Amino acid sequence: METNPCNNHVNGGSSIPSKVSRKTKPDDTIVSIKGVGIGRSEIVIIAGPCAVESRDQLFRTARSVRAAGANILRGGAFKPRSSPYSFQGMGEEGLKLLDQVRKETGLPIVTEVMDTRQMEMVASYADMIQIGSRNMQNYPLLKEAGMCSKPVLLKRGMMATIDEFLLAAEYILNHGNDQIILCERGIRTFETSTRNTLDLSAVPVLKRMSHLPVIVDPSHGTGVRWLVPSMAKAAVAVGADGLIMEVHFNPEEALCDGYQSLSPDEFDLLMADLKKIAQAVGREILVSKAAAF
Ligand code: PEP
Ligand code: MN
Repeated sequence: METNPCNNHVNGGSSIPSKVSRKTKPDDTIVSIKGVGIGRSEIVIIAGPCAVESRDQLFRTARSVRAAGANILRGGAFKPRSSPYSFQGMGEEGLKLLDQVRKETGLPIVTEVMDTRQMEMVASYADMIQIGSRNMQNYPLLKEAGMCSKPVLLKRGMMATIDEFLLAAEYILNHGNDQIILCERGIRTFETSTRNTLDLSAVPVLKRMSHLPVIVDPSHGTGVRWLVPSMAKAAVAVGADGLIMEVHFNPEEALCDGYQSLSPDEFDLLMADLKKIAQAVGREILVSKAAAF
């Protein structure tokens, strides 16, 4: 078996055709989400609550992340929770709130789809659909995303190798959708001081192997609020094309992932630091037109 991750069957000498590989397409793919391009020199910031909880929670958080310079709003309406007794999301009501907040803030929306039966409905509201870590190897869902007209944010499975991650993206590409963003969000290891182990080496490895843009989720990648800024800065330093981060106007009261959510003030401070790190590596944080008014 191949052990060198830069020489495996996605990019290596095997006969498996690979649309995801940089060998097939040397130029970077730019994914456009309602005019916000990911994969260019400008780094894209996606921020918002883990879950849409209420109109007030969503609007307050969305206004604060827009004011701090976020380019895209995140928010789950269908939540993949470990416990069936935890808040499962607002469903279509949550999607309607996302639609309303998009109209007010001008921010494009990314939200998760968990089931093939929800694809049409979620895609009709979302500007980009998210396939979560737990569904990275849900092949019917990947195929459905491949037939969808919206860009796809594909998160790395918590137990997936980089090879398996790229082959999941290959399913989407193979079904006709080349608008895919890869997201490193941490993997399971023996370490318990963090929720997951954020594999930052995945960023340069993925970018070497594939033409698709790569972003990092330091919120799920660490599971610890105070660690998010350090790992977000590190992600920019190692070449991430964007970040996705959880922000809640009152993290202590969050119905989902509050312990890893930044407050608006913490997010604002981090944005200022990220600009400096981006400059140090010859890049910039994207300034959205929506943030200017
Ligand atoms: C999320 O982004 O809300 C989420 C559930 O993340 P993951 O799929 O990476 O656990
Ligand atoms: Mn979350």
